[in-house]
Amino acid sequence: MQRFGAILKGALKAPKNIPAGDLAGMLHCNDRLFWDDVFAAAREVKRMCGREQTLLRGLVECSNICSKNCRYCGIAKSNRALTRYHMNVGEVKECIKRIRNSGMNAAAFQGGEIESEDNTSYYEEILRSCGGLEVTLSLGEQEEDVYRRWKDAGALRYLLRIETSNRHLYSSLHPRECSFERRVQCIRTLKRLGYITGTGVMIALPGQTLDDLARDIIFFGEMEADMVGMGPWIKHPAASLAGEAPPNERAFELSLKMIALTRLYLHNVNIVSSTALGTLGGAQGIELGISAGANVMMPNFTPEKYRSAYDLYPGKSKTQVK
Ligand code: SAM
Repeated sequence: MQRFGAILKGALKAPKNIPAGDLAGMLHCNDRLFWDDVFAAAREVKRMCGREQTLLRGLVECSNICSKNCRYCGIAKSNRALTRYHMNVGEVKECIKRIRNSGMNAAAFQGGEIESEDNTSYYEEILRSCGGLEVTLSLGEQEEDVYRRWKDAGALRYLLRIETSNRHLYSSLHPRECSFERRVQCIRTLKRLGYITGTGVMIALPGQTLDDLARDIIFFGEMEADMVGMGPWIKHPAASLAGEAPPNERAFELSLKMIALTRLYLHNVNIVSSTALGTLGGAQGIELGISAGANVMMPNFTPEKYRSAYDLYPGKSKTQVK
């Protein structure tokens, strides 16, 4: 325990000042008092970096049409039970208006992954109508030229989760045509193009170890991530991964620990308290993410009629974000 005290002191002094082995050692520790100290230290780092104020980004889930078959995801292409939608530009503009009217200056557009000229120009048109609003995109892997066109049209940030930095686990969660290398390359491209770039992982995936999670935090540092979005994996009955493992009862608690350690390791970045935390943690879930070290919340502005069709995992559409 004394050793962990020294690690926390070092972590407060400078970013990237915790070796992977110590991150893993902390994740293996179940002492409540120790974790109270970690959460307090994470809040202290947030204060030192001037990130105490919680930032709000209005989330719009523009489309649930996806070309991919990720094994954990409820909107995977193979889920034929799902009603597919693609909001028209006018509907997205309505959401933008509601976001502005709520006093927010930032939005996040998320959708299934589609690589096509129609999809590229659809988001260009939307971005050009966002004048002054800070926009985050989360639209998956794309060619460099597409990322460049969206940047030129006004996008400021891009979130592309690596999902897990363990390439073997990554392969087991994705069909063969999804390449870990391409995903890493896309994150590097986004950085090079000048996006404020985010990545992140799912937590408590079947087959994922605490050592994997420790290495995920090191990966965020190696990618020079400007923001991190992480949340618990939630089992979806229609996803092919569902048959393989029971949900991990510690997923929520582990997600809070990952937020705190990521804050302690990276210091001055934006960390999202994800919708999945709110789904597992109930009314307090997202607030607990904030007190663990996160500083961004994403209230959902997707029109009610589409909410349940953006069905990444059960319970998501009912999650309340203040
Ligand atoms: N298609 C884009 C991409 O690949 O980045 C963005 C949309 S994708 C549906 C958004 C995120 O939802 C994924 O990066 C993944 O981490 C998360 N997600 C999907 N299924 C999930 C599940 N069952 N539990 C928790 N998170 C999930």
